Amino acid sequence: MEKCSICGREYPEAALKKMVQISGRKAYLNKICPACQAIVLNNPNYYYLEENKKNG
Ligand SMILES: [Zn+2]
Repeated sequence: MEKCSICGREYPEAALKKMVQISGRKAYLNKICPACQAIVLNNPNYYYLEENKKNG
């Protein structure tokens, strides 16, 4: 179980999405639960981290 970076609730790791939060010129990696993903998707400072590289 891992904690959601936003709400702090614990979720199975597979349920958490890695998202990058841009703050100023820095980027922070957050793990975000499904409920909070719906919130941060409306926030332009958050991006999904693409873990699977396609064709290099
Ligand atoms: Zn959450």
